[in-house]
Amino acid sequence: MTLQAELINEAPSKLSVSRVSKIFTTKRQIVRALDGVSLEIGEGEFVCLVGPSGCGKSTLLNIIAGLDFADEGEVLADGHPVTGPGRDRMMMFQESALFPWLDALDNVMFGLRLKPGLTNPERREVAKYYLHLVGLEKFWRANIHELSGGMKQRVALARALAPNPKVLLMDEPFAALDAFTREQLYGDIQRIWEQRKKTIVFVTHNVREAVCLGDRVVLFSPHPGRIRQEFRIELPRSRDITSLPLAEKAQEITNALKAYMKDSAVSADFFADAKRGVAR
Ligand code: ADP
Ligand code: MG
Repeated sequence: MTLQAELINEAPSKLSVSRVSKIFTTKRQIVRALDGVSLEIGEGEFVCLVGPSGCGKSTLLNIIAGLDFADEGEVLADGHPVTGPGRDRMMMFQESALFPWLDALDNVMFGLRLKPGLTNPERREVAKYYLHLVGLEKFWRANIHELSGGMKQRVALARALAPNPKVLLMDEPFAALDAFTREQLYGDIQRIWEQRKKTIVFVTHNVREAVCLGDRVVLFSPHPGRIRQEFRIELPRSRDITSLPLAEKAQEITNALKAYMKDSAVSADFFADAKRGVAR
């Protein structure tokens, strides 16, 4: 294998979510987390799922990842039913979920165990490429506890990208970071998406973040978790989250969400945050 051959972009996947429903039954209640959710995601599209807590965003992402299963309906990746996790669909979470006993390089190399046919030196070379891509070339040997929150998320991103997946699934990956760090990552994730040609499904409760990143923003509402509306975002890239046209589009989406939420009990915090463009 040459590094160049290994790094050739795999064709991004097309995802098809059809009539997916999911119910959680606990001792105290029955929760309809997803109710007849259908969504088509094109090859290489960047789609943001947005909505307040509890509207089933993570549940849907887990089902696409193959980490959880629908009670009804199905998910197809390039026409094949998703029956479990696979290295074609890599997930990234709000907490970086890195191994604290491994350094940055070894964490990324661990992700590469999913990729057959690579020798150890080859894995190391690929891992270094991805750490470079996320801007951590000087921190290969850093211990995880020495890294800031933003740097940890960069390692987690490199680890998710390293097996060269066709789909990147991101569940509020920047929600725990400060606004300045988040802004840097918005620029980086747009650059990486353009360079590495992934299909990205990105979950957030921050409407501005969704408008900043998505080709399309899909609006969910809770109890039961349903898709309410979709918005195509035509703003030119790379987008600046502080720009006026972006704020106006975010306001339009927030207003739509408010209208859907009138009858539901959703925390007022969500709208306060949406207005300020702040993720909690
Ligand atoms: P979101 O990511 O949009 O905040 P989730 O997908 O996490 O929403 O959850 C949707 C609903 O399903 C919530 O009401 C949540 O409490 C419930 N839920 C999620 N996972 C479980 C679980 N494993 N057991 C019971 N209820 C769950
Ligand atoms: Mg969630």
